[in-house]
Amino acid sequence: MTAQPRRIGILGGTFDPIHRGHLDVGTVAERVLGLTRVFVIPANVPPHRHQTFASAFHRFTMTAMAVADYPAWRASDLELRHEGTSYTAVTLKQFHERGYPPSELYFLIGADAFMDIATWRDYPKILDRTHFVVVSRPGHPAGALRYKLSGLASRMADPPIEPMEEMDPLIILIDEPTADVSSTAIRERRAHNESITGMVSPRVEQHILQHGLYGAAFPGRRRIDQPAQIEADKLHG
Ligand code: ATP
Ligand code: MG
Repeated sequence: MTAQPRRIGILGGTFDPIHRGHLDVGTVAERVLGLTRVFVIPANVPPHRHQTFASAFHRFTMTAMAVADYPAWRASDLELRHEGTSYTAVTLKQFHERGYPPSELYFLIGADAFMDIATWRDYPKILDRTHFVVVSRPGHPAGALRYKLSGLASRMADPPIEPMEEMDPLIILIDEPTADVSSTAIRERRAHNESITGMVSPRVEQHILQHGLYGAAFPGRRRIDQPAQIEADKLHG
């Protein structure tokens, strides 16, 4: 009997906070590709760069609470245990060193974030280190990448993808609805004392309210328009 191939999803982000849209990305990819595991990995942001609103401790806690409802998912502190800015290229190398070949890895990413892929560390070699699974985000259809990033179109594929051990890494495009939510919108609503019910999982909402995260009086709160936040959007490069 041959063992079922492992299909390992990796979902990275600042998760400041983790929300319904992130969970939709993981759920859609898990269903469409038959992922056997999903690692949700909050990125490290060096303290001197002040790029996140909530601390790494809170971001990891919320991530762990959010994955509690998904038996095959794990919150990973891999990037938080390494000093300095997190780079996906480095994270993928660590997966390879732990015995996961590129053919078993599926890096999950929203279509908005994938538009910046050419700015990422180790581009274009990074495209050979994992499958990329690009999931649409409201206003950002995945299929449009075939012409928006036409230089990569030959690597793009639509599901279903038959599992093959020696498969060259692909860019898999998935157009499925995901919640029209962003961490920025959640932080703005909290700053104005508006409800975030339904935008995050109930446990995460409770954690945010209990600790006053992103509220007007929250010590870690920074102005939304501060330049550091613009930097944070490019974090996974
Ligand atoms: P921020 O507003 O702080 O940038 P965000 O909501 O964009 O936060 P990130 O942590 O930046 O969340 O995103 C992590 C990953 O999740 C990225 O690949 C992003 O494209 C994807 N993503 C986030 N929200 C959605 C969504 N609603 N639908 C699809 N993909 C999403
Ligand atoms: Mg973002």
